Amino acid sequence: MALGFDYNEDQLALQRTVRKFTENEIVPVRQYYDETEEFPWPVVKKMQELGIGCMNAPEKYNGMAFDNVTLCMVVEEICKGCLGIAITPLANMLASEPVVYAGTEEQKEWWFTGICNEGQLASYAVTEPGAGSDVANISTSAKKDGDYYILNGTKCFITNARYASKYAVLATLDKSKKHRGQCFFLLDRDWEGISIGKSEKKMGMRCSDTSELILDNVKVHKKYRVGEEGDGFKIAMTAFNSSRPFIAAASVGVATGAFEVARDYAKQRVAFGRPIADFQAIQFMLADMAMEIEAARLLWQKAAWQLDNKHPLEAAQLSAISKCYAADIAMKIATDAVQILGGYGFCRDYPAEKMMRDAKILQIFEGTSQIQRIIIARNLLG
Ligand SMILES: Cc1cc2nc3c(=O)[nH]c(=O)nc-3n(C[C@H](O)[C@H](O)[C@H](O)COP(=O)(O)OP(=O)(O)OC[C@H]3O[C@@H](n4cnc5c(N)ncnc54)[C@H](O)[C@@H]3O)c2cc1C
Repeated sequence: MALGFDYNEDQLALQRTVRKFTENEIVPVRQYYDETEEFPWPVVKKMQELGIGCMNAPEKYNGMAFDNVTLCMVVEEICKGCLGIAITPLANMLASEPVVYAGTEEQKEWWFTGICNEGQLASYAVTEPGAGSDVANISTSAKKDGDYYILNGTKCFITNARYASKYAVLATLDKSKKHRGQCFFLLDRDWEGISIGKSEKKMGMRCSDTSELILDNVKVHKKYRVGEEGDGFKIAMTAFNSSRPFIAAASVGVATGAFEVARDYAKQRVAFGRPIADFQAIQFMLADMAMEIEAARLLWQKAAWQLDNKHPLEAAQLSAISKCYAADIAMKIATDAVQILGGYGFCRDYPAEKMMRDAKILQIFEGTSQIQRIIIARNLLG
């Protein structure tokens, strides 16, 4: 079997375009958006114009339909600039996964017409105040009523929720059945009974929106149910299997951004009459960062390749391994970058402290690093 690590000409051209976009449109404004915590609509709109607003949308509906390797390559580039800004298209993609994987043609048309042609945003709504890691324990209920379901419950920590027009929502038909009683529904913001609650004030990714989604007797026609009754948990897990390499690539982006800040600083900062890059202690930190970034990039590339060539369920193990490893090294590298910048690393004039704050979420959302290890161990032990 042929094994290659080179991007093709189209991918390289895309990488150059997105890298330039990140340098020109994301890096200059990242500090502003972090400080003000404003939602970065102008940059989000520019990402949509560039075609990277929802990169897994099918071509048929005006999407880019990138394969997973290409998509993750783009994610790495934009996240190198700012995770808080880049998370909006990532959340659009995660929310779209159930539709891509299990949606009907009618559902795809309804969902992606809004997202690709009308600039809409989407949210993936699984987490609740009482159930995060333990997805089988969600309480948002879907009660059958003829051709409709009536949804009630509160989702929390939902990325994009305040600004989204479409929601992919996991609910339970029968909580006593745990994961076997769950169902995915697609909702429109304008439907009666949908409202937005509290928005979180966060440590990192501060300009991104993380809000409660409140469902109060929301009437949903059965044509908006994704898959069969009882398929919800499986669809949620499949979506996570597909999206974890995005987060691994995002982590490599954050890690690379922090590494470059530290490397450039080490070359120009003088202590004891020499650039600090001359000290072996600093060199070894930079060398470790470079090794870890390279290893994490290879992991997301293999996980994304597996997704492109196999079924998401078969790619599950590498998807979890890549997410866990990349998130952990991103946190470590961002922390070490702050260390290399010394006191300046702790101050907001330099981007290292923001990168460290942003990196933390990578170990928490889309399954914490503990949950990834549980998945990996279960797959190992059968
Ligand atoms: C900024 C942000 C954005 C988010 N975006 C979204 C979104 O768009 N959509 C969405 O649905 N959710 C989203 N989330 C929610 C996120 O996925 C959850 O926070 C995460 O899954 C963890 O759930 P929890 O917070 O309830 O923690 P808990 O599940 O309560 O876990 C608390 C701690 O216990 C550990 N733990 C739990 N169970 C075990 C176990 N069995 N073994 C060992 N350790 C365990 C965890 O690893 C963690 O360290 C977001 C969260 C944040 C902060």
